[in-house]
Amino acid sequence: ATHEETLGFQTEVKQLLNLMINSLYSNREIFLRELISNGADACDKLRYAALDNDALYEGDSELRIEIEHDTEAGTVTVRDNGIGMDRDDVIANLGTIARSGTAEFLNQLSGEQQKDAKLIGQFGVGFYSGFIVADEVTVRTRKAGTAADAAVEWHSKGEGEFTVADIERDKHGTEIVLHLKEDAKEFADDFRLQNLVRKYSDHIEVPVRMPKTETAKDDEGNEIEGSEVTTWETVNEATALWVRPKSEISDDEYKAFYKHVAHDFTDPLTWSHNKVEGKLEYTSLLYVPSRAPFDLYERDGSRGVKLYVQRVFIMDDAEQFLPLYLRFIKGVLDTRDLSLNVSREILQQDPKVDKIKSALTKRALDMLKKLAKDNEQYQTFWNNFGSVLKEGSGEDVANREKIAGLLRFSTTHTDSTTQDQSLAEYVERMKEGQQKIYYIVAESFNAAKNSPHLEIFRKKGIEVLLLNDRVDEWLMSHLTEFDGKAFADVAKGELDLGDVEDEEEKKAQEETAKAKEDLVKRVQEALGDGVQEVKVTHRLTDSPACVVLPEHEMGFQMRRIMEAAGQ
Ligand code: ADP
Ligand code: MG
Repeated sequence: ATHEETLGFQTEVKQLLNLMINSLYSNREIFLRELISNGADACDKLRYAALDNDALYEGDSELRIEIEHDTEAGTVTVRDNGIGMDRDDVIANLGTIARSGTAEFLNQLSGEQQKDAKLIGQFGVGFYSGFIVADEVTVRTRKAGTAADAAVEWHSKGEGEFTVADIERDKHGTEIVLHLKEDAKEFADDFRLQNLVRKYSDHIEVPVRMPKTETAKDDEGNEIEGSEVTTWETVNEATALWVRPKSEISDDEYKAFYKHVAHDFTDPLTWSHNKVEGKLEYTSLLYVPSRAPFDLYERDGSRGVKLYVQRVFIMDDAEQFLPLYLRFIKGVLDTRDLSLNVSREILQQDPKVDKIKSALTKRALDMLKKLAKDNEQYQTFWNNFGSVLKEGSGEDVANREKIAGLLRFSTTHTDSTTQDQSLAEYVERMKEGQQKIYYIVAESFNAAKNSPHLEIFRKKGIEVLLLNDRVDEWLMSHLTEFDGKAFADVAKGELDLGDVEDEEEKKAQEETAKAKEDLVKRVQEALGDGVQEVKVTHRLTDSPACVVLPEHEMGFQMRRIMEAAGQ
């Protein structure tokens, strides 16, 4: 090996390695899933790159993953003939974590094993998971299409630094050798490895093979020395999961596939698998994760589906097929309607993309509607993604009604911070004569709940939605009606309780207003230009006074956002 250099892991990697090794001990078999998953991704990438450059296969177009072990040496090797990496790739990919949200993630760690294991799970451990079972890892890799002497060897004990050196390798692709820790030697076993491959990687289209050595026997049943023949056996199912008929796929297979596609550790909440034939021809498999990823609110966070054209992988994170407010949906789209050399630029212009997008949007919303039948599961969804879905009522006019049906709120009905009340439930509880859906937006739940604006509503037993998410004012500026009922902000404009008030009450109010004209005048003079108008109100039952915004004025929350943005 030449041109050897020793480099330090990025601090984040060191932290991740420490944590992973300590907290994922009881789940350490997942290292194999992660390495196979990477091998499969690498094969997908090579097939894609080879679409317009066959030579990249270097005469070996049968993409595959091979797993070998050596019980005596205590090693497990995972090898692929995928795209491979050059020196720069190796340093960038196996020395740093280039994901957005990494710092946040690390900040959330508590040092408590179980909690941290869960968090790491969400974050995804990927390549570094090899160090859960190995005290030494060697990677030999060469990028497809480069010269034999452009290969690289990466080596590390997972303790803060790694070395990279130039080597020769006649095959392209990547080979990872794990030198198992004393207490992890059990993995250097045929049976164990086979089971793990079936458990975690059945759904991967690339064949995962293991060697099988057979020895011929003589007439007396004794092994004939030197007669060993090794054949490679495919261990996994090796068909793309989404291609198989739904009826033949078990829940566990759907879940395992999700983990590969979404690079997530936790099971998804639900999924929807559909084959469409006719004008458009595509298969989609969409998932709702059970956890928000760390980059959900990052501008450059990963989103979108994994795109295949006629089973050939084209790209990750194809974001053109789902609207922004459904960016938490993960999955696969495989279509015949696009050409194999489609690019991100082409996707932006192709009208077929828009058609598939609206079809997938509908699928995703239907999937959520179905999920909503299970209160507990839907609550998990809502707690994680509710505020993202809310963006949809402004973004997607065509589906506004559908989205409105999926919203959940805190209301005065429960006075709980848990947002679990639907608009349909609100409407059902509306008072006789009540025409509007009332809401209040404040900067915190308590501010909303304790607002003096609610006094009259509480007195009359009229329910009010309590809103305090960042997006709520935006939401309410787009959500104009539900089930034919308009929304009304209790803190704005004239208070109109519709027919809930009777004539007598109205009369009494008018009389009070008259009797208090003098007081109003004095207050008005005292406040001067600080206010637009002073009025007698029947909004309040306990508080003496409150500030009300004119009907069409920008709300408090929106103002604060504008101010923060320097406007
Ligand atoms: P992820 O798969 O989520 O991107 P990993 O930690 O598993 O994260 O891998 C990091 C990166 O290292 C991959 O994105 C890929 O670029 C590179 N990589 C890992 N394994 C391989 C491999 N077998 N062949 C080519 N590249 C690989
Ligand atoms: Mg990976």
